Amino acid sequence: MNYSLKPITSAREIRLGDADAGRPEDVPRGDELDEAIRHERKRLKKLQSVLYADGRYAVLVVLQGRDASGKDGTVRKVFRSVNPMGCEVTSFKAPTDIELEHDFLWRIHQRVPRRRLIGIFNRSHYEDVIVPRVRKLVPRKVWSARYDQINEFEKMLCVNAVVILKFFLHVSRDEQKKRLKERLEDRKKNWKFRAGDLDDRALWTEYTAAYREAIAKCSTKWAPWYIVPADDEDARDLLVSRTIADVLDDLDLGYPALNAELEGLKIE
Ligand code: AMP
Ligand code: MG
Repeated sequence: MNYSLKPITSAREIRLGDADAGRPEDVPRGDELDEAIRHERKRLKKLQSVLYADGRYAVLVVLQGRDASGKDGTVRKVFRSVNPMGCEVTSFKAPTDIELEHDFLWRIHQRVPRRRLIGIFNRSHYEDVIVPRVRKLVPRKVWSARYDQINEFEKMLCVNAVVILKFFLHVSRDEQKKRLKERLEDRKKNWKFRAGDLDDRALWTEYTAAYREAIAKCSTKWAPWYIVPADDEDARDLLVSRTIADVLDDLDLGYPALNAELEGLKIE
């Protein structure tokens, strides 16, 4: 299987139409797809174990997407085989009163993973260039100044050994409708539904514009964005897990050398 996600390097590559959310042609199906996912999970499990032992890097995985785009499912399924000791998940909700009294990155910085760990952000500082813009919560000059602030912040993290990958889970209108309908009707899913989700859905075009600009302005060499076609959950899991595993692979992680001071020690 050759298909892999490419980091966004120009605005031209940002395709967020309904057709772009479907399963890409050359992603395998059926048993072959299941096998490919299992393979990536195994890779991720091994790589995370070396990441922890190696100790030089932290990894930050940012997940963004509309309601029901599959952020929770991606956390659950992509990281299923990874040692929980090596992971931290943070779900960012609407800011609290105290959070609103600080700069928008204050709550974010506190949750950046330390070295050895994979930190997963379920929503992130990108909400702060999306929601306030679409909902007109703050003036344009406030949210539009944040792109540069985000780029500088992420660059500082990168220089300090945080490897950043950002995924936009892209669903189509029809798929979101289907998933929101399930949330309305299924007791196990109903708790996830907020009436506000429908208001957000009604603002589909405005959200698309906001995501498009955030991705265009903030896909950098040090913190690239990947757009994930997310209508098909298995394809999504394969593409996300493979991308993370490939980036970890490129770090050339290794177990530290044997400790010379311990040489010759006998255990009775
Ligand atoms: P959920 O992820 O579905 O549990 O919902 C969390 C809600 O919090 C979503 O509607 C987000 O848009 C909202 N949210 C998260 N971060 C922010 C933010 N910085 N500003 C405004 N709304 C936010
Ligand atoms: Mg929600």
